[in-house]
This record gives sequence, structure tokens and C-alpha cells, in this order.
Amino acid sequence: MSKKFYITTPIYYPSASPHLGHAYCTTMCDIIARGKRMRGFETYFLTGLDEHGEKIQENAEAKGVTPQEFVDEVAVKFTSLWKTMGISNDDFIRTTQPRHYETVKKIFSSFIKNDDAYLGAYKGWYCVHEESYWTETQVGPEHVCPECGRPVVEKEEPSYFFRCGKYVDELLKLYDENPTFITPEGRKAEMVNNFIKPGLNDLCITRTTFDWGIPVKEAEGHVIYVWLDALTNYISALGYLQEDDSKFQKFWNDPESEIVHVIGADITRFHTIYWPMFLKALNLREPNRVFVHGLMMMKDGKMSKSKGNVIPVPPLVDRFGVDAVRYYLAREIIFGQDGQFTPEQFVERLNADLANNLGNLLNRSVSMINKYFDGVIPEYKGELNDLDKNLKETAEKTIKAYEVLSDDLKVTESYGAVMDLVSAANKYIEESAPWALAKDPSKAEELASCMSHLANAIFVAGMLLSPILVTKSEKIFDQLGVDASMRNYETATKFGVLGGQKVVKGDQLFPRLDVEAEVQFIKDLMAAPKEKAAA
Ligand SMILES: [Zn+2]
Repeated sequence: MSKKFYITTPIYYPSASPHLGHAYCTTMCDIIARGKRMRGFETYFLTGLDEHGEKIQENAEAKGVTPQEFVDEVAVKFTSLWKTMGISNDDFIRTTQPRHYETVKKIFSSFIKNDDAYLGAYKGWYCVHEESYWTETQVGPEHVCPECGRPVVEKEEPSYFFRCGKYVDELLKLYDENPTFITPEGRKAEMVNNFIKPGLNDLCITRTTFDWGIPVKEAEGHVIYVWLDALTNYISALGYLQEDDSKFQKFWNDPESEIVHVIGADITRFHTIYWPMFLKALNLREPNRVFVHGLMMMKDGKMSKSKGNVIPVPPLVDRFGVDAVRYYLAREIIFGQDGQFTPEQFVERLNADLANNLGNLLNRSVSMINKYFDGVIPEYKGELNDLDKNLKETAEKTIKAYEVLSDDLKVTESYGAVMDLVSAANKYIEESAPWALAKDPSKAEELASCMSHLANAIFVAGMLLSPILVTKSEKIFDQLGVDASMRNYETATKFGVLGGQKVVKGDQLFPRLDVEAEVQFIKDLMAAPKEKAAA
């Protein structure tokens, strides 16, 4: 039986046009999902949109459309962005879909039935931005939101509350028993010290001040709080409490299925405190991990339209190709840490890693196989010299390291290991000096071994890079003459399987970029929306 893996992005708030910042998290999840599929895991990859709440209602009103019309329009922009980025999601959940309503309403009723929720009145300081209530202490004398710094307003409304107190001990036990539940681990202390230790109030789970949400069956005028609504997407998409719940049984209810939520830091509290509590109330297991990714920062802070530092994705992908943009995101920003985007580093990264290191390796190797062996990869079964042995061992170690690191969600490091193999293969060419071997008839065997080892090392690297290089890895296999039946992980990771294939010289995999011109191109892209806004 194959291993199961379920990975989710946060569901995005459809209040803006999506840009490279939005694409970052989804692209990283896509790379993880493709990597697992490649290795034979039965994988389910979910992304979607969080379409309810007061802010959406206000945005729609400002535009003079209904909230549904508003979110429908934005949903198209998101699905189109995912297509541009080569995202391979299995499902796209929208919280306005009937399937989601069905699950959320049933969950709410179950909370009431089991006395996990009760009717009370809520008074507090409210931030419209996160749709979150805060206490007097949290907003301080200035009455600003502790999360986003915006001014908060005092509000009172009749509300249902979720009994958090019932589940605090179990939550702390979960943190203790599963140290990687919150990754990176530092986030755990933050949750415990800032939110749980000071005393966790019962969570208000309905609203009466607006109506753009899922109505409560048990009480007219109440809609379900956006966070209870939104978090439920992870199981409503799988069919929980719906007629066909086979995906839920397979990817959630099976204790052998590994479940990973990838999120941004600003929503850690909801995912690591309230979500596990809701699941406990429903008698369901928790995810294995909530992974908090870092931010792709710009020189002047977060990417935002008002700062005029937004990078639109389609023109970037048009110019550099989807593989290059995906590669940059995976390699430049260490997954789990903040990183900074600069046009200069973007261009230099692509030149150094893709054009010079990987592209050159393939190009030189195919040229030499053409020149020395009439384009046929030698089937070499003889003795290995130290250099050959070393390259073979490096490739085999790389495969193991790649698997261990990627299972630990060390995405950046796992592909760093693969690029080290590419560097090692380039170094192997220099040290083996095939051009010298070719001049000496007594070295014919060594030359054959060298070409065979190079082709096989490139095959391994091309396969391991395929979750990132969604189009170019196929071009690598084309140039190596690998037929379709061999283009799979199991074959490629048995080092030495290539021999007898006819190589096909192709275009440069990644042409070298003119740094000055391309940096200017990106700067112009960043400037474009600002000019439009001013006009
Ligand atoms: Zn706020």
C-alpha cells in the first residue's frame, strides 16, 4: 500500500489582485506535493479561497457589486495565477460552495449538541482587518490591534462561544507529544506564552453585525465566524460529513496519512490553538504539522500595492519561464525563514545555478557524447577509477539526502543538495579531462566510463529537480534520449541505468541572462502598477 500525504495552503483572502507574494506559498506547497507524487506517495494537494466576512462585504459594497460577484471575479484571478505558476493542486475549495456550507453547518450543530458551544454576549475591541476581537490589555491605551496595528472599535453582540477551556490541557499535551506539530519550533513558545498562559478566553464563533457568511441553523441573524468557517475547509474539501467522504477517510481519518498545513506567520494562532481544539471536539485527529513559512520581503518591507513594490507574476513568467521563477522561490528564500527579493539577486541566481551550473553541464556532456561516441551514451560495465566512484557515491548520497530533507520539509536544503551534485558533476569533468582521454587510444575505456557517469548523474539530477523544473526536466530527458518508460523516480534513482540511448542536442536549457537589462526589466515591472494607480 502506498503512503498517503495531504498538503494544504492557507485559503487566501480574495481582497486583492494576487502577486508574487501570494504565489510563494502555493508554489512551495506545489514543489512539496510534486516531490511526494514523484516518489510514489498517494498525494492530495489543496488550495482555495476564504470568501466570507465583513471585509469582503465592505469591498463588494465599495465596488457596487454583490459579495458573490466580487469573490467570483477574484477567484478567476487566483486560478489563472496557479495555472501560470504550474500549480498541480488536486482541488480548489471556495468557502461559498454548497459542499463547504454543508460541512460547516453540521460541525456547528455538533458543537451545540455536545455542549462545546453556548450562547452568550460578546463585548470587546474588534479589528475589522483580521475580523478578530481583542481584550482591553491587548489593545493597550492607544486602542490599536496587537496584530496589525490598525485602530480597533468597541463592539457588543450576542454570540455563540466555543468552550476553549475544555481542551486546553489536551492542546498542551499535543504540543508536548508532537514536538514538530508547530514548525519552526520557536513558534510554539510564542503560542504558549502569549496566548495560552495568560488564559484562553472562550472563542466567539458567530457574528450578528453582518450577514456575508454561513448562516446558523439554530439562531436566526447569526452567521458563523470566518475563522471556524475557514479552518473547516481542510476537511470539507475532503468530503467530511458529506455523502461521499472517501477522500476524508483516506487522507484524514487514516492515521498513516501524513497531514501538513503550510501557513503564514500571521495565522499561526488560529491553526495551532483553535483548529486542534475544534478537531478534538469533533473527535478527529490533528494534522502532523503546521509549517509556518517566512515572508518574501522587498527592500522596503512587505510586498504591497500601496508601496509600489508589487511584482506581477505573468510578465515575470513570460520573460524568464515558469521553471526559473519556481527555482528562484525554492532556492533563494530558505523555506521557514524570511527572505528578501531583489532584482539583482533574482537574475544572478538564475545565471549562476541554472545557466552556468545546470545548463552548462548538460550542454557540455551532450556535446562530448556526440563528439566521442557518435551521440550514443556508452554502456560501461568495467572498472571504475576514483573519480568515477566518487561521482557515483555523490549521486547516491544526494538521493538519500534529498529524501530525508524533503520529508522534513527542508525544501531549500533538499534542492541545494541536488545542485551540489550538479556542481560535483561539473568538477568531475574538469578533473577527468575527457578531452585529454580522447587523445590517448589507451584511455578509451576511461573515456567511456566518464561519459556514462556524466549522463547518469545528469539523469538523477534532472529527476530530483523535476518537482521544480516542471517543463525543463523533460527537456533534460529529451536531450539524454531517455524514453518515456524510464522517466520515473524509481528508474532514475538506480544510478547507472543509462547506456545505449542516443542523445539529442537541444537548445540551451537556460540561456545566460544579461544582468543589467534583466534587472531593469524587473524594476520596470515593479514600477508599472504604481504609475497606473497614479494615473
Ligand atoms: Zn488587526
